Amino acid sequence: MRIARFTRGSDPRYALVEGEGDAAELVVISGDPLYMPVQPTGERVPLDDDGVRLLAPVIPRSKIVAVGRNYAEHAAEHGNEVPATPLLFFKPNTSVIGPDDPIVLPSWSQQVEHEGELAVVIGKVTKDVSPERALDHVFGFTIANDVTARDVQRAESQWARAKGFDGSCPLGPWIVPGLDVEDLEITVDVNGGRRQHGRTSQMVFDVPYLISYISEAFTLLPGDVILTGTPAGVGPLEHRDIVDVTVEEIGTLRNPVLRR
Ligand code: ZN
Repeated sequence: MRIARFTRGSDPRYALVEGEGDAAELVVISGDPLYMPVQPTGERVPLDDDGVRLLAPVIPRSKIVAVGRNYAEHAAEHGNEVPATPLLFFKPNTSVIGPDDPIVLPSWSQQVEHEGELAVVIGKVTKDVSPERALDHVFGFTIANDVTARDVQRAESQWARAKGFDGSCPLGPWIVPGLDVEDLEITVDVNGGRRQHGRTSQMVFDVPYLISYISEAFTLLPGDVILTGTPAGVGPLEHRDIVDVTVEEIGTLRNPVLRR
């Protein structure tokens, strides 16, 4: 199952995505599946219909918790050790943009980079959950690009600006519940050329452990999102690039890049 959030010019609505490619359809559902039981409304809309635009499948009401250096090869490419415990930081909900929304390069950075990541969407209030029970608290999985102003990250000991600026968290294209994420391929392509490649099985701390560890510090609320770290191969984004983050079994999150 794939759950999308979309607009046809009016208020955002939710839908199940059925079919592939040109035949894909949005089966519109009532309400917000994160917070209430939902029913099909009977309306079906072709995904490629004029005026249909997919939105970020969730805008966290509370927080995005992200994990740094969770793939050994990525830590090594910046000369960093793998941390002994997960390295956590926040991205604000104002950093979220949807599929096809432009990543606008901030004027104050000369080195903005892509970081393709598996994203976890929390479905229940979660505090001090064990790794064994952690996946029961997951609503589903989606794709994120943890866009990073690398020069600013290096220059400032807090990463709030480098990783939290407007548009620095593309999410989408939809949420897949019930997915086994132990060993999924993650790739990032820029203008069709491969930049990043890894598998979720290479995470230093796996998804159940991350949820458990994070929930010992922060109460996770429905709609909160966890970014699970990026594999090796991060690199710069330039004006007019097209960046695709693909996670096996989920899909592809595509965003253009603009410098205004
Ligand atoms: Zn990251």
